[in-house]
Amino acid sequence: MVDFSLTDTERDIRDWVRNFVQRELMPLEPEVLRRERAGQRGLTKDELLELQNKAKEAGFWGVQTPEEYGGMDLSAVMTALIEVELGRTYVPFRFGGYADNILYYANEEQKQRYLLPTIEGTRKSCFAITEPGAGSDAKNLRTTAVRDGDDWVINGEKTFITGGIDADFVMVFAVTDREKGANGGVTCFLVDREQGWKSEPIDIMGPDERQPAALVFDNVRVPAENVLGEVGNGFGLAMQWIGRGRYLLPARALGACERLVEMGSEYAQNRETFGAPIADRQAIQWMIADSAVEIEALRWLILQAAWQVDQGMDSRHAQSIAKLFGATHANQIVDRILQIHGGMGYTKELPVERWYRDLRLLRIFEGTDEIQRRTIARNVLKGHASISGVLG
Ligand SMILES: Cc1cc2nc3c(=O)[nH]c(=O)nc-3n(C[C@H](O)[C@H](O)[C@H](O)COP(=O)(O)OP(=O)(O)OC[C@H]3O[C@@H](n4cnc5c(N)ncnc54)[C@H](O)[C@@H]3O)c2cc1C
Repeated sequence: MVDFSLTDTERDIRDWVRNFVQRELMPLEPEVLRRERAGQRGLTKDELLELQNKAKEAGFWGVQTPEEYGGMDLSAVMTALIEVELGRTYVPFRFGGYADNILYYANEEQKQRYLLPTIEGTRKSCFAITEPGAGSDAKNLRTTAVRDGDDWVINGEKTFITGGIDADFVMVFAVTDREKGANGGVTCFLVDREQGWKSEPIDIMGPDERQPAALVFDNVRVPAENVLGEVGNGFGLAMQWIGRGRYLLPARALGACERLVEMGSEYAQNRETFGAPIADRQAIQWMIADSAVEIEALRWLILQAAWQVDQGMDSRHAQSIAKLFGATHANQIVDRILQIHGGMGYTKELPVERWYRDLRLLRIFEGTDEIQRRTIARNVLKGHASISGVLG
């Protein structure tokens, strides 16, 4: 039986987040826009923390964090539904109580120093694999870590590292055995800022809270106990980090698209040209119709990929499909809604241009459109995935 309905609990959780977004976040939108126009961050750290604490009082903390660490340990489907709701606003909010999935591979001592403070929000991490010469081709890493007595000495440069400006520590990937390369020759190190790496902000077209950094490692010396997991298994960890929830990125974009179409519909019904609302014109109706179809398709691609995660299936193919479809169609949808708004859509008075710039990133990070297509094509050509989907 195929059942597309939500359980009562799923609906209650979804509705709580929907109300939280409407009550606590949407009222902040004009101020977020105003600050961003003035070159400031939309929310200060203290404001974000205050909002996270409000949510925590209602039990919303550590959405996917295991219960033994005080989290909610919600399913992938539930988390996707929550992300959609959060995506309906551009106020840069996320629930507290989160830590990178690969930090759970830390040993007991590392857990105290890195995992627990990250969950508590007292320390910030960043994830650094990309280099100037190794983006999509992540196996082409040049950063090295060379053993010297009880230490490792790291040299190299990382680029586009989200959170790299504020992070207290980095999970950095370096080559420890050139011959083995990605098959046993890459290691992940936990490196505190005080151990000597430097960061430089990189200006981007998207909002400031996304601003990444270049990281420089110039003879940074770390003790051997800072290796995360095993020496040589770093590439596997990196792929796990990237694959931790590819369905979540398009889920947030889906929420944005829903809101954008609502805004576009309202505008089209109020804006009159040549004696009638533009919503009466087929040209505008088709933009709304195509967007509605793509939104509906995206919703089920995301939920189906999340469902596969919950079933413990190999969900990589479904996640790549959801990420690719979400990235390409969210960009088409925001472009149409900007077009419906005419000149107003192009101004900073409205948030449409902000979404336009922000959603563009989805086609690039955590696997570009082209890399998703490469993965999907390979799976189909080599028979790793059935073209008939999970129904076989
Ligand atoms: C805002 C932002 C935040 C980021 N955050 C992080 C982070 O936190 N940590 C981190 O490690 N990285 C991060 N990245 C890096 C991001 O993952 C890479 O930019 C991305 O993987 C693409 O790599 P690249 O920029 O080197 O492009 P390239 O790999 O050089 O690709 C250039 C173009 O060629 C295409 N291309 C490449 N190979 C192929 C192929 N085989 N077939 C067809 N087309 C191909 C690509 O799709 C792209 O269109 C971030 C990037 C940005 C912009």
